[in-house]
Amino acid sequence: MPEGDTVWLAARRMHDALAGRVLMQTDFRVPQLATASLAGQSVTEVVSRGKHLLTRTDAGLTLHSHFRMDGTWHLYRPGSRWSGGPAWQVRAVLTNADWQAVGYRLPVLELLATDDESSVVGHLGPDLLGPDWDQEEAVRRLQKQPAREVGPALLDQRNLAGIGNLYKAEALFLSGITPWMTVGDVSDLAAVVRRAHRLLNANKGHWQQTTTGSTRRGEDHWVFERAGRPCRRCGARIVQAMQGEDDHPEQARISHWCPQCQRGPAPQP
Ligand SMILES: [Zn+2]
Repeated sequence: MPEGDTVWLAARRMHDALAGRVLMQTDFRVPQLATASLAGQSVTEVVSRGKHLLTRTDAGLTLHSHFRMDGTWHLYRPGSRWSGGPAWQVRAVLTNADWQAVGYRLPVLELLATDDESSVVGHLGPDLLGPDWDQEEAVRRLQKQPAREVGPALLDQRNLAGIGNLYKAEALFLSGITPWMTVGDVSDLAAVVRRAHRLLNANKGHWQQTTTGSTRRGEDHWVFERAGRPCRRCGARIVQAMQGEDDHPEQARISHWCPQCQRGPAPQP
């Protein structure tokens, strides 16, 4: 599941392969960009903003993509075999003399003027992995809705950008509180945000996401996707339940927690 660290790393790899080079060919396989071409333009930079990826060109254009559940960009040398999925899942191909960037399953893919980027990322809260990360502002935004449960509040990219379901679950475990505690009841919200920031930062340089320090399968997370298995700290059985909000029931997400290590309200698993 792409979270802020995955998109940050994708942006860095894309930047290394594309920036400063002329695009010889572009191929967009989505209806809204069927006739678009960036051929002849140079990529100036590729950056991430939260979970959004922005590829900018010297013509003042930005290709905006978002990974959502399982979108991704792969880089290939020209002529090598593509391995990111079946051809019908390819949404975009950007080709320069040395690399082909292939975008798979991207649910969001659009071209806009770089000057208009704020229309697609302007709503985001402080970017946990951005150069302008502002923890105080993130806490301030979270605190504006004290009655909200902290789990969904951390996932709301308008509060802070980059946290997905994995880092939400793990930061709350490390903070010892359930995802159902309200923001107003969290005694040290800044510490929760700091933990999430530290986890994302520690994982941004590689594809594997570990929150425990171990990279072994089954040992790399504390609670995320470990329902039914013993807590690595106390031995209690990890539980899971869906958590949503009344005004956005479609955004309900699965939450994992340890009933012993994490205090606060929680439903019956
Ligand atoms: Zn425990």
